[in-house]
Amino acid sequence: MKILVIEDEPKIAQAIKKGLELKKFAVDVVYDSDNGYSYASDPDYDVIVLDRMLPGSMDGVELCHKLRQESIKTPIIMLTARGTIGDKVEGLNSGADDYLVKPFSFDELIARVKALLRRPPEHLGTSLQVGDLTLDTNSYEVKRAGKPIKLSSKEFSLLDYFMHHPGQIITKDMIINHVWDQDADVLPNTIEVYIGYLRNKIDRPFPKQKPMIITVRGFGYKIEDS
Ligand code: CA
Repeated sequence: MKILVIEDEPKIAQAIKKGLELKKFAVDVVYDSDNGYSYASDPDYDVIVLDRMLPGSMDGVELCHKLRQESIKTPIIMLTARGTIGDKVEGLNSGADDYLVKPFSFDELIARVKALLRRPPEHLGTSLQVGDLTLDTNSYEVKRAGKPIKLSSKEFSLLDYFMHHPGQIITKDMIINHVWDQDADVLPNTIEVYIGYLRNKIDRPFPKQKPMIITVRGFGYKIEDS
């Protein structure tokens, strides 16, 4: 899952980036509202963390409003140093999905990012399930048929992305755009390598079950209940 952080205070921005990366998100950071606008227009971000007070031609509230006017529906969490009821209402009225007052606890930010990523029909609590494969977005435990599977950080992020979109064709571009940040040098071949790693852990050890990670020739991949 990829997060865009729009925050002009470099220390706060970098702390948020590091913290989210530890939780296996890919994170891009921009420091003003105009860059924020051009990045946020990219539909590949799964959540936007938007500071309310920003340099540039708009503040956070105006930026949020403009994005919603242009039908950009990416979930937005607004950060603010102020916590009056009026500010909160203004932020939510501008189209933000959630609101966090600085200083905030990092755990709370993570919890709210995850809440915005949740899709009720596929997702109960913190656990994603496709067939006999489960992935817990809080404990990072992955199991197939009850057997624990150990994944690297990137393998986990990749599987997490697949499991948010069961049965849906995922192209290599989608994977590059949601699982890696913009600074990463990712070649299409890299994706094949990681898909191979995942198959070695998710499918190969379970020869009696049908493979879950399916290649869709000419398009990409999908995960499905075998
Ligand atoms: Ca600020």
